Amino acid sequence: MNSLTRVFLAAALLVACHHPLAPWEEIDLSKAVRVEPSLQYIVWWNELEACSGLSGNVNAVAFYVIPNDSTIQVGSESYWGYWIKDGNKIVLASAWTNNEKLVKHEEMHALLQSALHPPAYFNGTCGDLTYPNEG
Ligand SMILES: [Zn+2]
Repeated sequence: MNSLTRVFLAAALLVACHHPLAPWEEIDLSKAVRVEPSLQYIVWWNELEACSGLSGNVNAVAFYVIPNDSTIQVGSESYWGYWIKDGNKIVLASAWTNNEKLVKHEEMHALLQSALHPPAYFNGTCGDLTYPNEG
């Protein structure tokens, strides 16, 4: 990602993930590409299991990447990543696919099977997985 993109993203009012009130149907997956979880994603998942005490099957999560994009539009909101309960999907904007904090944030949703952000899991033993502008 170039520095211009970084500046734009830092300045924009973005949130990282699924907002409980945003209907999942609004997310446009027509450009999304299904990907197998990389070894890195599996390592991060295993780290989250170890620090949270939760357990889950990373292979049960359907990972999608939206190519050539730094945000995911859901209705009028922009996101870097998004977890969808229906189908247990993690959708990542391509600019963020290697961002540990972002991917772990979405993986934590999948481990919890919840769109909520309990502090014990998002800012506890697994470190700070929170994002600004999240309610
Ligand atoms: Zn979240």
